[in-house]
Amino acid sequence: MDDPTDSLLISPNSVLANALLRTIDMIRPRIAARAPRSITFVVGTQINGAPHLGTGIVQTAAFLLARAARRAFSIDTRVLFSALDNAPHDVIVDPESFHAYQKVYAHALGPQGVDELIDKHYRSFFESLFDLTDAEYSIETYTDQQADDVFRQTFVETVTRLDDIRWWLAPSHGTVHIRIPCPHCDWAEKRSERTKLVDIEGSQARFEAVCLDHGPYEASIGPGTGNYLDLSTLYRNLVKERVFAQDESTLYVMVKGGDWSFGCQLVDGAHAALGTDMRAIPPRIFSPMVLADTGAKLSKSLIREQHDAALPEGVEPWMLDTSRWSAGIDNYVDSLAWLVDAVMSDPKHFYRSFTTKELGRLMENRPNFGDQPRARDMAIYKKYFDQIATGDKTIEVRVGYSSMKRIKPGQLLRFVCRDESCLTKVIRVATYSTFEEMFTAEDPDAVNPGQDVTSQIQEIRRIFPRDKEALGVIAIEIEKV
Ligand SMILES: [Zn+2]
Repeated sequence: MDDPTDSLLISPNSVLANALLRTIDMIRPRIAARAPRSITFVVGTQINGAPHLGTGIVQTAAFLLARAARRAFSIDTRVLFSALDNAPHDVIVDPESFHAYQKVYAHALGPQGVDELIDKHYRSFFESLFDLTDAEYSIETYTDQQADDVFRQTFVETVTRLDDIRWWLAPSHGTVHIRIPCPHCDWAEKRSERTKLVDIEGSQARFEAVCLDHGPYEASIGPGTGNYLDLSTLYRNLVKERVFAQDESTLYVMVKGGDWSFGCQLVDGAHAALGTDMRAIPPRIFSPMVLADTGAKLSKSLIREQHDAALPEGVEPWMLDTSRWSAGIDNYVDSLAWLVDAVMSDPKHFYRSFTTKELGRLMENRPNFGDQPRARDMAIYKKYFDQIATGDKTIEVRVGYSSMKRIKPGQLLRFVCRDESCLTKVIRVATYSTFEEMFTAEDPDAVNPGQDVTSQIQEIRRIFPRDKEALGVIAIEIEKV
């Protein structure tokens, strides 16, 4: 193997790596058993503040795994980003009971505030990863998830058997944290001391709880009720995995930070206690953990507590807050994807941890990606390529595949034909319902110089038959750069 990362990365063998040729082979048994029509890589992130490197690595791994799985198994793949807006935003102590109460991000900020937070920290990062890997992604908040009837139904099924799972989900005290915020003020008892399951009738589980301001209240949880349901991390994962297990055509793969590998045994114990068919439970892929020099997981709050302003050796500012990367977002994504790709090239490198110092060293060896926005490659026939290269053709026509719908003015498009390429910039994007309608607005000479509209439509329809045209017609005005 003449892989350039071979000399850069050295990892010992491990039990897991020894059993695998490729990192993605981790999910091959499930694909062989279930023959899914598609694979969704699920990555969950608490959206409390700017992401650090550990978060960036897990998310980048999800997109690169989606690309690797698509290539390895010829199956449609995508990424689902689960934005955990149930992270605590405020915590206070009830002066009477001394119980801690918390209010989650979703309630403190509202849906628009949560959207803005996702936009600020993640949207352009995901768009750039999508551009790079061609892996479609969607974003779902925890608030959306818990409102879904299947999620609520699945929760009720599990809470019916709470006695079977309580010691798996809370091995130290058996009190599973089920938080149902006060309907008046959204505060919920953090450790569910006085939150009790009263009864289960049909598909509804009735709880009683105590608010620090409004006293005792009751709330029903089940399909069709609006009461918010917040669960401890292990319980939330149990329910989520059982929801995903019900989908027979899509294989869900949970992509998690390596520290999760210690906790999943408890989730599996709860699955087993419920008699779950383990063949249906989503496989999990643990991405490399980022460690401080002490061997502890890189933690922003821990460093803030211990080091005031100065960072410990080996920790660079961008590792704690990726928005402090000195170049643009595409440069950051190219660099991070290069790193994760190198690590993913061998299971020995992927299924282990890295110190910040080692990651810093690896990053210094990255190629020079420049600081220009990344150009998106568009394959094109020779005839049209030549027209674009001479500057005669300034409108490119495509149909409304979701990847095409994302093209925006200002973006760079590199038209590629065999070994030739031509860099252009998008000036304008217009959409039409048919090719005929497009030609009522666009100049035919800019689409295919010197050819009349009738023959142009015939030619375009040979490339895009009616069923493709039905996706919508997109005219992209470009200029050479
Ligand atoms: Zn209240």
